[in-house]
Amino acid sequence: MARRQIRYAVVGLGHIAQVAMLPAFANSRRNSRLVALVSGNPEKRKQLAAKYGIERTYSYDEYDDCLKSGIDAVYIALPNNLHCEYTVQAAQAGVHVLCEKPLALTEEQCERMAGAARAAGVKLMTAYRLHFERANLEAAEVLRSGRLGRVHLFTSTFCTPVEPGNIRVRHAAGGGTLWDIGIYCINAARSLFSAEPVEVQCTLAGQIGETEEAASCVLRFADDRVASFACSFGAEKASEYRLCGTRGDLAVEPAFEYAVALRHRLTLNGETRERRFARRDQFAPELLYFSDCVLQNREPEPGADEGLADVRVIRALYRSAETGRPVELAPFEKHERPSLEQEIRRPPVEKPEVINASSPSGH
Ligand code: NDP
Repeated sequence: MARRQIRYAVVGLGHIAQVAMLPAFANSRRNSRLVALVSGNPEKRKQLAAKYGIERTYSYDEYDDCLKSGIDAVYIALPNNLHCEYTVQAAQAGVHVLCEKPLALTEEQCERMAGAARAAGVKLMTAYRLHFERANLEAAEVLRSGRLGRVHLFTSTFCTPVEPGNIRVRHAAGGGTLWDIGIYCINAARSLFSAEPVEVQCTLAGQIGETEEAASCVLRFADDRVASFACSFGAEKASEYRLCGTRGDLAVEPAFEYAVALRHRLTLNGETRERRFARRDQFAPELLYFSDCVLQNREPEPGADEGLADVRVIRALYRSAETGRPVELAPFEKHERPSLEQEIRRPPVEKPEVINASSPSGH
C-alpha cells in the first residue's frame, strides 16, 4: 500500500489539545497530518489556524461539514459527556476516531460507540498515552519476568489540584476524580495484573465544585491479588504506583505524568536501583500508532474494549461509594494488553502559549 498521511481534525481546543496534541503533529509527520480544527471559540479557531497553518476550521454546528470535508480521522478532546455523541457522529460519517479518556460515561455509551465504528468499518481508539510509554510498559515487563517474585499487591496515588469551575468538577461535563485521574490507577492495575477486577470498593470524601474531592478504592482480582489507590483533586501533585512482590518491589514515581521524566525504583534482594526515563512526547506516539492502524487495517490496542473495561470499573466504584458496600463485577473477556513492542519514542514538545484555556489548577 502506498504510504500516506492520515488527515486529522482536532475537535475541542481546550488545554490538552493545545499543550499536547496540536504540537504533537510535528512529531508525527511520517503518517499523520493536522488539516482541520473544530471549536466553539472563533478566536481560538483564528489564532490556532494561523499558528498551525490550517485552512479549514469549523464550529460545533458545522461538525458534520467537517466530517464530510475529506478528513480521515478526528481526535476528540471534548468534555467527557460529549465523547459518545461526537464519536458516533464521526463513525457514521466514515471517519476514524481517536477519543480521549474516559471513552464515555456509561457501558451503554461505550458499546454504542464501538457498534457505530464496527458498522461503518472505521477504527476507534481510546487515547491511553501510557500504552506507548517506556516506563509504564517496562513495569509490566518487570512483573511478567518474575523478578519481583509473586506480586499480589499494587498501590497507587494520583493527586492533582483542580479549580472549582473546571470540567473535572462539573457533573454535567462528566466530572469526578475517578473519571479524570482514578482511571489511570485502574488502567495501570488492570494492565500490570493482565486481569480484570472481580470486586471493587470505594469511599468518597469532601467536595470540590460539584464532585467529590477525593476517592479511596480497592480492586480485588482473582488469585488473591489486590490493587488499592487513592486520588484527589484537593492535594498537591502526586503520581505514583508500587508493585510489592515476595522478592522485591518496583516503585514508579512519577508514573502518570506527560510533562516530566518518569522514574523506576527497583528493589531486589535488598538492593535498590533507580532509573530515569527521559521526558518525551507522549501524544505523537498515539497519532503514529493510530494512523498505522488505519493504514494497515489493524484493530488498535487500546481499542473501545479497553475504554469500556475502565468505564465499567469506575461505574461500579461509584455504586460502591453510594451503597457503602463492595460491588461484584461480571467476568469480562480481555485478551490484548499493552506490551513493550508498542513503545514509540518521540522528543518532548515545547509548551506553547495557550489561548482561552487553562490547566486543571487554573494556571
Ligand atoms: P478543557 O476544559 O481544557 O477543554 C475542553 C474543551 O472542550 C473546551 O476548551 C472547549 O473547546 C470544548 N467544549 C465543547 N463544549 C464544551 C462545554 N459544554 N463545556 C466545556 N468545554 C466544552 O479540558 P481538557 O483539555 O483538560 O480535557 C479534555 C478531554 O481530554 C477530557 O476528556 C479529559 O479527560 C482528556 N484529557 C486527557 C489527558 C491525557 O493525558 N490523556 C490529559 C488531560 C485531559 P473550544 O473552546 O475549542 O470549543
